[in-house]
Amino acid sequence: MKKIALFPGSFDPFTKGHFSIVKKAMPLFDKIVIGIGENSNKTYLFSLEQRINFIKHCFKTTPQVEVGSYNNLTVDYCREIGANYILRGLRNSVDFGFERNIAQMNHAMMPSVETVFIVTDPELSAISSTIVREIIRHNGNASEFVPHGMLDII
Ligand code: ADP
Repeated sequence: MKKIALFPGSFDPFTKGHFSIVKKAMPLFDKIVIGIGENSNKTYLFSLEQRINFIKHCFKTTPQVEVGSYNNLTVDYCREIGANYILRGLRNSVDFGFERNIAQMNHAMMPSVETVFIVTDPELSAISSTIVREIIRHNGNASEFVPHGMLDII
């Protein structure tokens, strides 16, 4: 059976932290689908199309990594795409507490799916999409925190 992982998130925007988690996970899986979860109650800085384009740009030479979007439960999207793993990144103990709960609930709903955590590199652990969004909103320079060239393609 092929090892397919879903990396779910809002990715508003995709950061160097997200990029590093995917790179580190690549040797573990046959395919990684970066799944942009769309929540109709949330407002985003970047449109779904922009977020998809950013991520496609980052992995244009990596056929093993695909990009998709969904607005149903993460486990239902796993079923749709045949994913047997959920990939998540851990920056700190706050992430761990939150992620453990989600992983346990997802596992209860779909026992065939395991969540795999990758611990971020220390130099990337302060990066969050929330802070990057604030920098961009206030016309600051966020290029240090996002994959190279990404902001040029807006
Ligand atoms: P969500 O809205 O689901 O939290 P995010 O786009 O913020 O989505 O994050 C998606 C995943 O990436 C989560 O597992 C999160 O912990 C992880 N992540 C976010 N920032 C970083 C970072 N700097 N380093 C490693 N993992 C990160």
